[in-house]
Amino acid sequence: MESRADLLSMMATELKDFVKELGEPSFRAGQISQWLCKGADFSEMTNLSASLREKLALHAELRYPVIEARYASKLDATVKYLFRLSDGQLIESVLMEYEHGLSICVSSQAGCRMGCRFCASTLGGKVRDLLPSEILGQIIVAQKDAGKRISNIVMMGIGEPLDNYDNVIRFLRLVSAPEGLNIGCRHISLSTCGLVPGIYRLAKEDLPITLSISLHAYDDEKRSEIMPVNRAYNIDRLLTACRDYFDETGRRISFEYTLISGENDSTDGAVILAKLLKRYLEKRPFHVNLIPVNPVKERGYEASGKRRVRAFCEMLEKLGVNATVRRTLGEDINAACGQLRHTAGQTGQ
Ligand code: SAH
Repeated sequence: MESRADLLSMMATELKDFVKELGEPSFRAGQISQWLCKGADFSEMTNLSASLREKLALHAELRYPVIEARYASKLDATVKYLFRLSDGQLIESVLMEYEHGLSICVSSQAGCRMGCRFCASTLGGKVRDLLPSEILGQIIVAQKDAGKRISNIVMMGIGEPLDNYDNVIRFLRLVSAPEGLNIGCRHISLSTCGLVPGIYRLAKEDLPITLSISLHAYDDEKRSEIMPVNRAYNIDRLLTACRDYFDETGRRISFEYTLISGENDSTDGAVILAKLLKRYLEKRPFHVNLIPVNPVKERGYEASGKRRVRAFCEMLEKLGVNATVRRTLGEDINAACGQLRHTAGQTGQ
């Protein structure tokens, strides 16, 4: 049997061509898009004729992830979803409420092969890349479940987005399209552990998203120890790429820095970090987001204490580096940075 088309991964023009091939007028594509944004199945697309719905079901498939479990935090309004994909793979997404609206953290791969020592997502290695439809589907299904518009996206869930480059770029174009969910690129952040060639490619895509770099160390020795990717692309290459990315796009870079007790959190370290960033970025704007490491039981790293975090942050600020401490949401449901996994039964409590 010929494989069915992955409808949710289609750009507007492709969807038009597809409905034309089915012998239908192209305006049907717009109607279908509207239904897809609502997470509807073919049977629910009531303004389409029964025969078109049948044709669609025969020739196309809808890869909405299915909610396998839903964990609501008792501490804040955070909800973590465990999603099942059509081949049974499990991924997680986290919905967070901020004053400016709902924000969702989405996964880009089932598992991850980057091997960062402090992160739970990489423990079982990478299983496969997600399709554009499977990334988009996380937002559609969560939005339907929440009953409220999602206005911001962070690509900070399971997986390394730049290791699934083409699908992630297609997802970004789909989700920001006016006939799609219409979430503007300025409301989207993409986080990478530092795949330098991907950063250069991304700079040329004309997608005004915010690029976040997982830095986590101020020298190559420590960074290579906790992030194996640093052996391929060291700090010099990474920060040069960040500078070039800004020069190409004009978009302010954001750095994530996880504070691990006794590993990378000394005040002297803050001084080295500030000098390092200023040396590469000079007068260009950038921001440092400090994240006390979240516990992952297999890893054994401990978060820096509140006073250490404050001292690190204050030293950066004193040296003229814009820095904030990231608020941790969904702590009681293992929904915080680095705690997402794709293995069933280990999620949540
Ligand atoms: N692969 C991408 C996307 C993951 S984003 C990347 O590496 O950037 C998730 C963010 O949380 C990254 O900055 C990651 O380094 C960080 N993180 C991973 N494990 C963490 C942990 N245990 N505590 C705090 N932050 C963590």
